[in-house]
Amino acid sequence: MSAPEIGKNLPEVALPSVSLAKVLKGQKALVTGANSGIGKATAICLAQAGADVVVNYFSGDDAARQVVADIQKSGSKAIAHLADVSREDQVQAMFKRMIEELGTIDILVNNAGLQQDAAFEEMTLQQWNTVLNVNLTGQFLCAREAVREFKRRGVVKEVSCAAGKIICMSSVHEVIPWAGHVNYAASKGGVMLMMKSIAQEVARYRIRVNSIGPGAIRTPINTAAWEAPAAYNELMKLIPYNRIGEPEDIGRAAVWLASDHADYVNGITLFVDGGMTLYPGFAEGG
Ligand code: NAD
Repeated sequence: MSAPEIGKNLPEVALPSVSLAKVLKGQKALVTGANSGIGKATAICLAQAGADVVVNYFSGDDAARQVVADIQKSGSKAIAHLADVSREDQVQAMFKRMIEELGTIDILVNNAGLQQDAAFEEMTLQQWNTVLNVNLTGQFLCAREAVREFKRRGVVKEVSCAAGKIICMSSVHEVIPWAGHVNYAASKGGVMLMMKSIAQEVARYRIRVNSIGPGAIRTPINTAAWEAPAAYNELMKLIPYNRIGEPEDIGRAAVWLASDHADYVNGITLFVDGGMTLYPGFAEGG
């Protein structure tokens, strides 16, 4: 039987339903940028696994309220909190509220991110700064607050083997250069060494710091890459597994990385990308 033509004759993906069991029971999670796309799916998956969740968002009150309602259906607590992750005062106020209302934090998912694309010579300083401020500085500010609380509280063995877990939402573009997106690729390359350096520094306190590197995931950030059939077929040339990723593909990976099942996993990027980082152009070339 011949292989299916790229992007054709493939069914729309309906991910198989899985039980996320209650591997995160009793844990308190903060997901930034959680009212859309990957952040939303991750917040819901963490809640299905038993965590109470703070749903951070920047704009879109209704979408945030809907995520809170979805989480409550799974029996977990949820709080929507508006904050710009690139602003130190707003990040600190968000952590203060979380600790007052949920008691502590066990899991931070540093997910908020954006793109402002331009040809390199056209890129403005504002486009550069906006992307670096949200995608990199925002992750620094949230990770720093989380580490302060993890160290203050230490390990509570009934809750988790670790004193805390940080998951940074990186991208395949922490290793794959991306013309026309220099600010974005630089921010994710920065996330990679920030994550590894924090992991190295705080491992002795039993704090685990890892990244997820999504490939192409069906979210509003990249609608142009998958909505039109022609664009989708082009995209498939980059994805050996021959389907786009769904936000839940990332949410499920986040549950595992945050759980004690991954207790010996520290300082890595888990690529969840259908093989995009296998450089498929080399399958028949090179
Ligand atoms: P999205 O646009 O659906 O979601 C981005 C979220 O970030 C939104 O909730 C938005 O409100 C929030 N946000 C933006 N600026 C913010 C700020 N200043 N403060 C707080 N929140 C802010 O996009 P997505 O695809 O779900 O992206 C989520 C993360 O995944 C990003 O870090 C992105 O770089 C990364 N990622 C996405 C893909 C993909 O294919 N979709 C691939 C690799 C990496």
